[in-house]
Amino acid sequence: MLHAMTKDSTEPKAPLLMIPGPIEVEAPVLAAMGAPPLSHLDPRLVAAFSRALTLLRDVFLAPDGQPLVVAGSGTLAMEMAVANVVERGDRAVVVDTGYFSARMARVLERHGAQVTVVGAELGEVPTLDAIEGAVRGARPKVVTVTHVDTSTGVLAPVREIAAIAGAHGALSLVDGVCSVGGEALDMAAWGVDLALTASQKALGAPPGLAIVMARPRAMEAHRARKTPPASFYADFAEWLPIMKAYEAKTPAYFATPPVNLIMALEASLASIAREGMAARVARHAHVAKAMRAAWTQMGLRSLPRQASSSAHTLSALYYPDGVDASLVARVRDEGVVIAGGLHPEARTKYFRVGHMGNTGDAEIATTVSAIARALGKDPAGALAAARSQA
Ligand code: PMP
Repeated sequence: MLHAMTKDSTEPKAPLLMIPGPIEVEAPVLAAMGAPPLSHLDPRLVAAFSRALTLLRDVFLAPDGQPLVVAGSGTLAMEMAVANVVERGDRAVVVDTGYFSARMARVLERHGAQVTVVGAELGEVPTLDAIEGAVRGARPKVVTVTHVDTSTGVLAPVREIAAIAGAHGALSLVDGVCSVGGEALDMAAWGVDLALTASQKALGAPPGLAIVMARPRAMEAHRARKTPPASFYADFAEWLPIMKAYEAKTPAYFATPPVNLIMALEASLASIAREGMAARVARHAHVAKAMRAAWTQMGLRSLPRQASSSAHTLSALYYPDGVDASLVARVRDEGVVIAGGLHPEARTKYFRVGHMGNTGDAEIATTVSAIARALGKDPAGALAAARSQA
């Protein structure tokens, strides 16, 4: 019932935001965000920051992880992770499942890494054999994988890829911008060394926070550097004492924290903790199943080629014959905001529907109906298909 939050019933109802981030934000999170800014040393801010840092370990399932939360977007989180563990001349293997994996390769190159990319056809994940072969050949310091590539909706087998990296003595680095808080990710059990996300997707807060979780091997790689990271702002060494101090409720200053966003993040993480990560991941799986049943009923084809490599946080769907990107505007007219394509190989051929955060049956029904109507179909069949998965 997120979209029914309009304060005054005479106001036109805001369209339901169903893009793959930013997403709809719960009222308590908005309230936390909208309160007057606190001093970054105010005990209320300090308490919220401390709780947020602690709660992040439960979201990433990284009891031995060091969370870092700074002002910035997901791209900064990518750069922060890379800048701290990669030195000029280090080798890296990038598992390529779309636009954001390609971005990771560019970030690595900017920080001096020699990058080997293991790719696959659009909508596919490279085979584990291909990944292992690339890792054996390159002997990299780090293997990166985009958990969910938001451009393709492809879900990568992070657990298996982290195991390959670990077996070859490489660090594993997961871009979890479109997965953390929605997909299963168990950093400690799976041996993932570094994972990153941003506030505006499955964590359910507004955009503006870059979030990195560094486990001991990643911190050790940072400490063992011969040269300081090329980025001053992103240097773990600057932020570590700050994060530790805030978590211990003894604030310290390096650069002004985005206090309103920290308050919002804490509210959102508290809501996630109430739901519990296992239940939250199961809910995302349920929502994805219901959405997929509706798409199949409407004859829409998914960009990810296998169900096992289809994200639970978004759907990427080809336009049916005779339909073009103007569908996105027509769905908007029906009250739901969805996104067009992003991957350069197929940008004009598909669209994307985000279903992460607090999406439930009401949002599924609203979204499925809007898309059906915009396609000139009676929504009843698709709605029944979605409901049959309940
Ligand atoms: N990685 C992935 C998987 C993403 O989906 C995004 C954003 N859509 C990014 C990185 C970059 O994040 P931002 O746009 O917040 O910089």
